[in-house]
Amino acid sequence: MLKDTPMTPENRRNILKNRPATLWQGEPRLGSIYGEEETEAAVAAIRDSQALTQGFSGPQVQAFEEAYAKYTGVKYARTLNAAGPGLDLAMRYLDLQPDDEVIVPAVNYVASPLAVIGAGGKVVWGEIDPKTLQLDPNDVEKRITPRTRAIFPVHMNGMSAPMDDYLELAKRHPHEKHGPLVVIGDAARSCGGDYKGKKIGVHGLMNIFSFHALKNMVTLGQGGMMTTDDERVSDFFYETRHYGFDSTENWGSGNVMTKVQAAVGLVQLAKLDSFIAARRHLAQQRNAMLADLEELATPLEPADCVHSYYLYTCVVRPEWAGEKRNSLMKMMDQQYGVRLVVANPPAYEVHKFLRRQTEGQSLPLSEEMGRRLFCVPIHPAMSDEDNEYIMAALIESVLALR
Ligand SMILES: *Cc1c(COP(=O)(O)O)cnc(C)c1O
Repeated sequence: MLKDTPMTPENRRNILKNRPATLWQGEPRLGSIYGEEETEAAVAAIRDSQALTQGFSGPQVQAFEEAYAKYTGVKYARTLNAAGPGLDLAMRYLDLQPDDEVIVPAVNYVASPLAVIGAGGKVVWGEIDPKTLQLDPNDVEKRITPRTRAIFPVHMNGMSAPMDDYLELAKRHPHEKHGPLVVIGDAARSCGGDYKGKKIGVHGLMNIFSFHALKNMVTLGQGGMMTTDDERVSDFFYETRHYGFDSTENWGSGNVMTKVQAAVGLVQLAKLDSFIAARRHLAQQRNAMLADLEELATPLEPADCVHSYYLYTCVVRPEWAGEKRNSLMKMMDQQYGVRLVVANPPAYEVHKFLRRQTEGQSLPLSEEMGRRLFCVPIHPAMSDEDNEYIMAALIESVLALR
């Protein structure tokens, strides 16, 4: 493609004459691709639920868990109704005492810090590494105290966080009573990415995935999964996702996935690698097309990661922070019909409860990055032509604002 259409001014002009039929406005409302197979799997699961002796119980949930564990390369996978409740259960597993601290990245979705607070812990925000946008291990080390119980990174936008670096810190700074700190990953955006030759979901005590409508794979709009090699963690999730029956220790609520979702999940999982390959193809084309644009840094992919590009995140150079970045977003929307999103500014800037709960903590670097980053729509069904249009628009917008 690139050999045919280098991003010369003339080619850009020609490309921009044909506005894509698909509106690329922020994160597409369906992050995955659904075909007839998903519909057939759902209908079949509903059909066999019609029998009074069968209902909505069936082998699909267990089959999906086994397939996901195998795909990820872990001993156990447990389905959930969504990732959010899984993050809550992950924090509840720690049995946090008042004043116990959990370190989470400031540049984050609100779910993981809320889970910390919900489980009775204190959120300690950590800075992100401005190159990778991941929770910075060097900064984490400075924030570890005798009250620290866990390091709770997010695998940012489809790429693995540096799990081994946190695990090494966790060993070196053990909690007096509980031993090595626990490392838990919020992998909601990162189904299918790799880290050090293994899938995201292997490293750390457990990782929580989302199959929400926007994510890399989707189980009818909602759904989640926890992966672990630890039998106790697996049992804890099994018990607590259904009210804690059979447990003298644990209570829970209703957080189960339905068999219809699991049936669709099996189909989506079999397609996941093809979705990621499509995302990577688009991202690699972009990296080449944007290479000469000095105002932007394209997403970094460290040598030990395979990025799944849930989002394609660019960072403008420091002088373009804030106003200039916002003008770029506005121009892309108004002139070219392409909506960029900021995922994410520091969570305490967008969530008043989180701000109040963490009053006094400010993370200057994360705040700066929140003014510099933006995500360009990407989707496994995006055509090369649409991709070129978006890139031509982005280059034109940057040049116009130069
Ligand atoms: C989407 C998302 C969640 C929540 O996932 P749900 O399945 O919708 O509960 C949590 N964390 C991150 C980083 C997310 O992007």
